[in-house]
Amino acid sequence: MSAAVTDTQATDNVSSAGESGPREGAFGNAVGLACRECGNRIALGPFYACPDCFGPLEVAYEFPAITREEIEAGPRNIWRYKALLPVPSDIEASPNTEPGFTRLLKADNLGRELGIDNLWVKDDSTNPTNSFKDRVVACALSAARELDAKVFACPSTGNLANAVAAAGARAGIPTVVFIPSNLEQPKQVNSAVFTEKLVAVDGNYDDVNKLAQEIAAEEEGWAFVNVNVRPYYAEGSKTLGYEIAEQLGWRLPDQVVIPVASGSQLTKVDKAFQELIKLGLVEDKPYKIFGAQATGCNPVSTAFKGGVDAIRPVKPDTIAKSLAIGNPADGIYVLDITRRTGGAVEEVTDDEIRAGIVLLARTEGIFTETAGGTTLAVTKKLVENGLLDPSLETVAINTGHGLKTLDAVSGQVGAAATIAPSYDAFVEAGILA
Ligand SMILES: *Cc1c(COP(=O)(O)O)cnc(C)c1O
Ligand SMILES: [Zn+2]
Repeated sequence: MSAAVTDTQATDNVSSAGESGPREGAFGNAVGLACRECGNRIALGPFYACPDCFGPLEVAYEFPAITREEIEAGPRNIWRYKALLPVPSDIEASPNTEPGFTRLLKADNLGRELGIDNLWVKDDSTNPTNSFKDRVVACALSAARELDAKVFACPSTGNLANAVAAAGARAGIPTVVFIPSNLEQPKQVNSAVFTEKLVAVDGNYDDVNKLAQEIAAEEEGWAFVNVNVRPYYAEGSKTLGYEIAEQLGWRLPDQVVIPVASGSQLTKVDKAFQELIKLGLVEDKPYKIFGAQATGCNPVSTAFKGGVDAIRPVKPDTIAKSLAIGNPADGIYVLDITRRTGGAVEEVTDDEIRAGIVLLARTEGIFTETAGGTTLAVTKKLVENGLLDPSLETVAINTGHGLKTLDAVSGQVGAAATIAPSYDAFVEAGILA
């Protein structure tokens, strides 16, 4: 049962679309919301928890036949997959940040370093606000519009606030974003530049999330992207899975390593792979999904290793602040998927995270944030402990940009030497050695 939905009512008051409900086609090929726990089906709307069992709701579709060629003819952003998302067919016409279709890089230098033969990095740090959150927010924005929301909002560990604030600015919808007050300064500025209403809450992310749920229940017309429009928001992460498959030449990889905060992204990459198989867009084959956490916030890794089904919440204490969700809403589904596919959930220390950031930078020229450092370090550890097969094709997802978490590595990297502006001083400094 999802912690994010237990203590508020199942329905919400975003919609002012009146008795008529959302307009025809507002959610594309989506046909309803389905409960992940009991399978109960309800109509599309601003709902996120099952009215019967309070389980989380997920978007259900009836897809028409869709071809690779139709997708390939689409724009070079997530809307090339619009037929697979809960968005209207004219989604490109509404101003949005147009995220996605980021690079999938063959990472041979990094692969050599880790002993992995066939390694790729999906680099989502190049999205409009430099994290994968632009994908989910673009889908949430569409839902907020269709449900006639007056305010676009979120509780955030940082990157989500950046993405919501930017998307709201571009769409002309007022935004209010809530963050823990101890958040990295660059992430605060990256929100504040887009919105006047950045609210720093004295507490950790789980406190911020609780407050957001309260506001969502009390205030009319607020679309909290990851609370009351969460089912639509979460679908945006599927585009990572679609892109990986398309960029590999319409093929699934053997292994994928994905960072876990709430666990939403990991579950949706799996959903994307399953949909592509069902639609006949890729060949059916086994794949393993691995989750990456920081030791300072490891509730899912702990449950995985303990062989238990329940997630025991933790108080986060890690430099990987974008992953610092102590009570992850989709944690139990991450356990299901990693176990079903033969993957694992692994964790690494803050020092290993820092080393992961530097390793990716020095092998592939990609500056990742602490979440990516976590993914890299976990990938390394999974090879070392034999859980990840280094002879199989592997994709590691880099979800965010290192410029947002400079402090994490600023103490470890820097000037090789400070010298007088003379050739002699340069030679003496030993740089040529
Ligand atoms: C939010 C976030 C994640 C994890 O997302 P979930 O879907 O909540 O698991 C990973 N990496 C970065 C950089 C993020 O901002
Ligand atoms: Zn239910």
